[in-house]
Amino acid sequence: MIPYGRQTIEEDDIQAVVDVLRSDYLTTGPKIAEFEKMVADYVGAKYAVAISNGTSALHAACFAAGIQAGDEVITTPLTFAASANCVLYCGGTPVFADVNPKTYNIDPEDIRRKITNKTKAIIAVHLAGQPCDMDEIHKIAKEHDLIVIEDGAHALGSVYKGKKVGTLSDMTTFSFHPVKPITTGEGGMIVTDNKEFYQKMMLFRSHGITRDENLMTRNDGPWFYQQLDLGYNYRITDIQCALGCSQMKKLDRFLERRKEIVARYNEAFADCENIITPYQLPETESGWHLYIVQVTNCDRRKVFEALREHGIAVNVHYIPVYMHPYYQEHGYKDVHCRNAEEIYSHIISLPLYPTLTMEEQDYVIQQVCECTKNE
Ligand SMILES: *Cc1c(COP(=O)(O)O)cnc(C)c1O
Repeated sequence: MIPYGRQTIEEDDIQAVVDVLRSDYLTTGPKIAEFEKMVADYVGAKYAVAISNGTSALHAACFAAGIQAGDEVITTPLTFAASANCVLYCGGTPVFADVNPKTYNIDPEDIRRKITNKTKAIIAVHLAGQPCDMDEIHKIAKEHDLIVIEDGAHALGSVYKGKKVGTLSDMTTFSFHPVKPITTGEGGMIVTDNKEFYQKMMLFRSHGITRDENLMTRNDGPWFYQQLDLGYNYRITDIQCALGCSQMKKLDRFLERRKEIVARYNEAFADCENIITPYQLPETESGWHLYIVQVTNCDRRKVFEALREHGIAVNVHYIPVYMHPYYQEHGYKDVHCRNAEEIYSHIISLPLYPTLTMEEQDYVIQQVCECTKNE
């Protein structure tokens, strides 16, 4: 099977992990701060918090933003459930704004329609790596005094108007799951320029406990620590961060390769009338986490099944979040985002990852054209 996405692990990545296994620290050692600094420097953010995964990164960001019962947070339905679940973890209410039919990203106009006096934050998700319309989103946030969190799980290395994703909003989260731009196995990070958010998330990552004298209310001696808030064990290990450091050195090469593959797909599908290739927003550079096409004038399910039968493990990103039974049973029965549902009914994610060979890609192209052709 050719997967839709997969990790790229090379010998030096393996060696980096082995080196940590021979060192004094398997967790909470020097590799964590090193990885945080590498990502913060890469995107151009002041602070970074490495954490157990992309979902806990979103939870930490919502916690730092002060989301609690009674608060509404506006996000997109066309995303992984974690982008909305993080609001529920904090007792808040996710509110879904529809997406733009061209970019598949959250539509600022619909954000405006969904704002109430309970709205506290916006979570913008850069679907497939394509940056959202951040200028418009920031304009709305400013008018209504909202915190903006970016779910950048797909967008490490993406660029919006000359700035890397991670420097634009109050907080940006990343995921290092194996299919994401770089991997640590499981892992995540939040970047921010806001010191207060940073300190809250550092506590949140590890039980709310600190040994920092400046933060403690008293100090009984060198053994002393205090729990200042209710946090979790969301720590990431040095084993994972060593892999992350090694992967960061390759990120630009990975992104370059993804771009090449996308250019080849776009060119090949230009003449296929039943395939809509991804739209590219001007003044942005996508990190191309996913290559999502819409198939038209043919049955998506049949195309999907035929491709799977031919050894291509295509996927669908995403089922609108509110359509899941959990959401349906918790107050979202009457929620409909027309564009998101329409897009959902036509999309397929094709294989895209740095080690996809030209031969494999040619095979995918040939099969996709074949399967979408009308007799
Ligand atoms: C992968 C992903 C997450 C969650 O990341 P994990 O590391 O798997 O917890 C959140 N949001 C989006 C959009 C994702 O794709």
